[in-house]
Parts: sequence; C-alpha cells; structure tokens
Amino acid sequence: MYTYNFNAGPSALPPEVLQEAQAEFLNFQGIGASILEISHRSKHYETIHQEAQQRIKQMLALSSEYEVLFLQGGASAQFSMLPINFLTKGKTAGYINSGAWSEKAWKEAQKIGEAVVLASGKDKQFQQLPNLQVQNIPEELVYIHFASNETIGGIQYKTYPKVGDIPLVADMSSDIMSRPFDASQFSLIYAGAQKNLGPAGVTIVIVHRSLLDSIPESTPDMLNYAVQAANQSLFNTPPVFSVYMMNLVLKWIEQHGGLEGMAARNQQKADILYEVIDSSDGFYKGLAHKDSRSIMNITFGTESSEKEKKLLLELEQAGFIGLKGHRAAGHLRASIYNAVPYEHCKALAEFLVDFQRRNA
Ligand code: PMP
Repeated sequence: MYTYNFNAGPSALPPEVLQEAQAEFLNFQGIGASILEISHRSKHYETIHQEAQQRIKQMLALSSEYEVLFLQGGASAQFSMLPINFLTKGKTAGYINSGAWSEKAWKEAQKIGEAVVLASGKDKQFQQLPNLQVQNIPEELVYIHFASNETIGGIQYKTYPKVGDIPLVADMSSDIMSRPFDASQFSLIYAGAQKNLGPAGVTIVIVHRSLLDSIPESTPDMLNYAVQAANQSLFNTPPVFSVYMMNLVLKWIEQHGGLEGMAARNQQKADILYEVIDSSDGFYKGLAHKDSRSIMNITFGTESSEKEKKLLLELEQAGFIGLKGHRAAGHLRASIYNAVPYEHCKALAEFLVDFQRRNA
C-alpha cells in the first residue's frame, strides 16, 4: 500500500534524494567505498561539507558576516549551547514563550543564567502567537529567543518580532527553508535537519560573527560556537551521512524553485487542508487560532474523541501515517514539510471529506 507520510520529524524526504543516495551508497563517485566509510578529512567529504554550507549561504543570501555550522545534539542541544555561550554572569536573556519548544528553550536557559519571558501564549493554550510589546523589552538583553514555528501547537510567525538592536535568535527547526525570509535580521538561527533538510543527526547553526568575540574562553570546545566556526565544523568528526543527505536535499530544493518554489507549494498544501477543516460545519476543528496557523504543522480534531480514534485508525489502514497529534497535545496533526507532495495533501483532504460524509 502506498504510504502518505505526514510524520512530524523525522519526516518525508524527497524520493529523488533517497534514490540518489541509494544509487551511490556502496560506491561513492567511483571511489570503491561508501561515503560512510571514508575519512571526514578526505577531499570527497570536504567537498560535500563545503557544498552544503555554500548552498545554505546562497539560499538565504547570507552576507560574509555569517558562519554556517553543522553541529550535533539536535536542536535540543542548542537550547543549552546558546545560553552557555552568551548568557554569562550578570547578563539577562529574553524569551518569547509561544509553545512547547520555546518553553523548553527558556527552561534550559534558566539552568545557565537569568532568562526572562517577554511574552507568553500560555493563557491561550499556545494556540495563538503571543504579542511582544516593545515596552516590555528591558534594555541590555544579551539576546531574544523565539521559535518561528511551534511544531506541536501548529502556530507560526509570518513576520518576525521587531527587537531593535538586541540580537534576535530563532529556533527554525520546523520551518527553515520552507519560504524565503530576510536572514539579516537574525544574529543566530538554529534548526535540526530532520524536518525540511534531511535526516536527523545534524543541526545547522547560522551565526553572525560579531557574536563570537564575546564567548568566554572557558566554554568547553565542543560547545563553543567560536571554536566550531574556527574549525569549519570539523573540530571533531561531523555526522557525515546526515550532512551528505542534507546536501542532496538542498540541491533538490534548488532544483524545485528554491525557497520561492517551496513557499508557493507549501501554501497550496496548507490551504487545501485548512479549507476542508473550515468548511466542515464544525465536524473538524482547527486547533490553532486562524491568525497564527502554521503552513507546516496543521493541528485539528473532530467533534468527539471516538470519531478521532476511528479516523486515525481508518487513515492508517488507508496508508496515511504520522497523523496522530503529539503526545502532549493529542488530536491530529498533519506535518507537511517541503518534501510532502501536494498530491498527498490532496489525497488527505479528500479522505477527510469522505470520512465526514460517512460519519457526520
Ligand atoms: N525545536 C523545535 C521547533 C522542534 O520541533 C524540535 C523537535 N521536534 C526541537 C526543537 C527539538 O529537536 P531535536 O529533537 O533535534 O533536539
């Protein structure tokens, strides 16, 4: 049975990328060995590593002031690495709390130093983006952190918070490379690869060089952005296979219209699903507030938990996988990252319409 993959991450990869990786898996470019079997200091791997960095720089039109790093430990490691580098004694960082992931980042930062919440969506059950009031921003913050897309709640920023001269930091794990954006407003961006960029195992960090000078020398090397940057993320063995796969995914994005192409397709995909939810006369209910809806993670429920169970079961039997909501949120969630084809979203939309007809 054909699988329509709506997993939240790790998630669908472009079939062309999987096929390309398969074709050269045993014998990479005629060297007689797999890319998994050769040194990360070899010319072959270095070329891949640099190509991937170059593609990211080009795609986001990054100025030469930015470093692109490939790190390990997932986006979760960035929750700690960020404050370890910058939230030093006597400093305060600001956090926008828009949901489960930004809250985790804030809690982790509190273990390192002084981290304050500047705006919170908790009173709205994280179903709407919180409003950051400029007058609530204290002076002298070392950075302001937010998540551009809350993967669990299914809410997403269309335009980013305006924070003046304070360095702006974004967790873009679940929407990086899904649409064009002006990267120059950020001092640091991080994202785990396993949604829009490839398999799990590599986290990209884009950091403005001006930040690197302030990092204390006592910071452990592996957790020090400046050390990683000085070594082009080859301080130790990088996750070679994840970087290799990410490079293929980045190439696939380029070949499919770049970020403009991704954005147009992603919007179409989201529209067709929200349309079914909104025109269901309350049979389906979108969980996120309309003004905050994500085009990456579509969260919804049905009238009753019995119907939801039945729906999930029937979906799975029909080859739709990964639609169960996050264990903390329940209900359903369709994650429709770059590699999920429009046709799959259309098939899901049609299935939902038919399920309503049979069960209303
Ligand atoms: N931030 C966001 C927005 C996420 O969606 C996730 C994972 N789903 C994380 C952070 C944590 O990522 P990781 O599992 O790579 O640590």
